[in-house]
Formats: sequence, structure tokens, C-alpha cells
Amino acid sequence: MLKIDGITITWLGHDSMKIKAVVAPTGASRVIYIDPFRLKEKEAADIVLITHEHYDHCSPEDVAKIAKKDTVVIGTTDVTPRFKGATRTIKAGDSVTIHGVTIEAVPAYNTNKKFHPRASGWVGYIINIGGKRVYHAGDTDHIPEMESLKDIYVALVPISGIYVMTAEEAAEAVNKIKPKVAVPMHYGSVVGTKADAERFKKLVKEPVKVEIL
Ligand code: ZN
Ligand code: ZN
Repeated sequence: MLKIDGITITWLGHDSMKIKAVVAPTGASRVIYIDPFRLKEKEAADIVLITHEHYDHCSPEDVAKIAKKDTVVIGTTDVTPRFKGATRTIKAGDSVTIHGVTIEAVPAYNTNKKFHPRASGWVGYIINIGGKRVYHAGDTDHIPEMESLKDIYVALVPISGIYVMTAEEAAEAVNKIKPKVAVPMHYGSVVGTKADAERFKKLVKEPVKVEIL
């Protein structure tokens, strides 16, 4: 678990993250999940962000575990039809504000493998909490669009290789994005191990801090 400036980020395995923070101006506490998968967590979600349709990222049965009456599920056109209840369909470049949280969708795709073609239009997200921007990269390689991301406070990046960036490529990307904190993910479940996360940590340069959750 990472607690930073009133934002709590919990890694729930693989690419699953829970972000909890108090949102101005209402002062309400909001719970945001990204790609919930094989959840044991039960805290209800205000917002669920899905990066793409692969089973280990888009899991309606896991979303059902945390859904409440006004939970909003955000995803691309291939994702949102799979959910009951409130949804918002987005594409890279879109920005939506839901329950006081502004969420921006950004591109995520492979450059040197075929699993996540650019043409699929899948995404990562930037979650803006009181001016602090938390970036969840989704399933992606180190893509040029990452280099124009501005003011990223926390970057959650995949490091397993095979379907996404390797630890080396992810470190290179993070050294350019220059967040305050970088958190490795996409390991320990379907592919990748903690050794990949440790290697990533060694390769990331100061002043970026790496937190292995
Ligand atoms: Zn995928
Ligand atoms: Zn994946």
C-alpha cells in the first residue's frame, strides 16, 4: 500500500489497483478501481476503469463484487457493453469527470509485439485527484505518447515483458515520464515475477522513487 498526500493506492495483484482519496470540493471519499481481477477486496467502488477487453483486465464478475447502485464503469467501446448499470464509453484523448474525479484516457499499445495493436484503441488512464495525477499505463510498450505526459505524480507501469514492456523498457519509460513515484505492476499473476519488479527498481534513476507494493 502506498499512502501519499492523502491518496492511498493498493495493489490487488496483476494490474488491479484500488485508489482511495478525499475529493474536493465535496470532501467525499472516493474509491476507484482499475482493472479489478481475482478480487478479494470488498470495498464498494465509485468508479471502475477498464483498460481493455483481455480477460485479466476486463472481468465483469470481479466488477460485480464491488459494484453499488451508482458505480460507474469506464472503458472503450469493446468493454462497456459487457457491463450492467452505469457506464461511460471513452477513447484515448477523452476526459470525463465522474463523482468529482477527472479521468483522462491515454493511448496504450504494443510496438514490438502483436497482443495490443494500436488500431484496437485501448487505453491507460490519468486520474486527477486534487491536482495530483496518477497514471495507470494499461497494457502497453514504451510508446512516444508517454513522453508528452505532463506532471505525473504517481506512475503505475507494467514490467513483466511478453505482453507489455520489460523491466528494462519500463524503467526507460519512467526515466522520461519522471513521476514522483513509480509502481511496478503486471507481475506475480499471469506473467512476470517480483524479480522483474526488483530489476525495474534498480534501473529507475533518481529523483524518481520506486515503490514495490
Ligand atoms: Zn492485454
Ligand atoms: Zn495484461
